[in-house]
Amino acid sequence: MHCPFCVAHDTKVIDSRLAAEGDQVRRRRECLACGERFTTFETAELVMPRLIKQDGSRQPFDEDKLRAGMQRALEKRPVSVERLEAAIAHIKHRLRATGEREVKSLVVGELVMGELQKLDEIAYIRFASVYRRFQDLNEFREEIERLSREPAKHE
Ligand SMILES: [Zn+2]
Repeated sequence: MHCPFCVAHDTKVIDSRLAAEGDQVRRRRECLACGERFTTFETAELVMPRLIKQDGSRQPFDEDKLRAGMQRALEKRPVSVERLEAAIAHIKHRLRATGEREVKSLVVGELVMGELQKLDEIAYIRFASVYRRFQDLNEFREEIERLSREPAKHE
């Protein structure tokens, strides 16, 4: 693979390890020409189900969009990139495990909320407040009340 710094052709792998609960291989590479080091992530390309939007239209699953939405919710929260990537891998795994060729986009939203709830409650509330805005305000209010009644969890 080309060096992203000097575009030399020869780079060597200096370390490989599993990331995101084994769904990814993380490699440290070093450029033989300029000596810069960089990291690549390798993921198996598996077919994801298409998403059925609420208006009935179909869209391909978009991992970048999913990641961007979760990153927005996690902004300035103490959650590592590794944990976010593991959550994304988990969501993709769950979607593939449905065995369906098409799933409702709502299913993805629910999976994201489930993962964010495990990662960080503030991020969960941020995401849920946007996601559920037009869906079920009462349910959302109940969720906020439930969270405010529960004693805070500290790690
Ligand atoms: Zn280089």
